[in-house]
Formats: sequence, C-alpha cells, structure tokens
Amino acid sequence: MTTNVSSLILLIMRTMGIPLTKHTTNHSDWNTFKFSFFCDHCDKEWVSPLFLFTSGGFTVIEHEETKALIWAYEHQKAFEQANLEAQFFFNYCSECNKWVCDNCFDAEWSDNHGLCKECSEKKKKAANLPI
Ligand SMILES: [Zn+2]
Ligand SMILES: [Zn+2]
Repeated sequence: MTTNVSSLILLIMRTMGIPLTKHTTNHSDWNTFKFSFFCDHCDKEWVSPLFLFTSGGFTVIEHEETKALIWAYEHQKAFEQANLEAQFFFNYCSECNKWVCDNCFDAEWSDNHGLCKECSEKKKKAANLPI
C-alpha cells in the first residue's frame, strides 16, 4: 500500500463537520486532540478540553495507515465533541446566525433567546430605545 499518511489526514480534516464558529484552530497531534474556537465578533478564544488518542484500544499498531485511519476517526469524534461543548460557551444570535461570547451577547434582549450586541443595538436604534 502506498497511501501517503499525511495526505490522508489532510483529506479527512477537510471533510470534517462544520465548526460552530467561523474561526477555529486545530492543536491536535498524534497523541492528543484539542481545538480552539473564536467568537464570531471579537475573536475571544475558547479552548476545548484535551482529548487523548486511545489507538482504538490497541497497544501496538503495526501499520502506519491503520494508525492514521484510527487517528482520523478519533480526531473527528473529538472535534464533534468539542463542537458540542463550544455551544455552552458561545451564544447563538438568531438574527445574524453568529456564535458570540458572553461579552458580545445581549441576553437582556426581550425577543426569544437574546441577540448579539451588534444586532440588539441595531434593533434598539431602529426602535429609538436607549442603548
Ligand atoms: Zn466576543
Ligand atoms: Zn447578531
């Protein structure tokens, strides 16, 4: 088999799920998985917990290709988990579909679940309310 492991990983990373925020960074290596998510407004960083690569339970993996595939699978699972946990840190604005940190969120806004500050300011201006 002549599969190039790093090109395989790149391919899998490109087909991963859509991240919650627009800007994310991947800190994963062969042994651990970790991701950063950034507020869609101010770029405030949230770092996911560290996930450990478990080698699928195997102690020794002889083939590099097999290891890469197991790694990619666990990497994707870790990313999905991080994405879920990020939802507890970021707030969703139903107006502009952005995910923002608490600083950029106006939870006081009376409409349904709150809006990001940018959208709530626009709405307040439009309604002549104090900002
Ligand atoms: Zn923010
Ligand atoms: Zn908004």
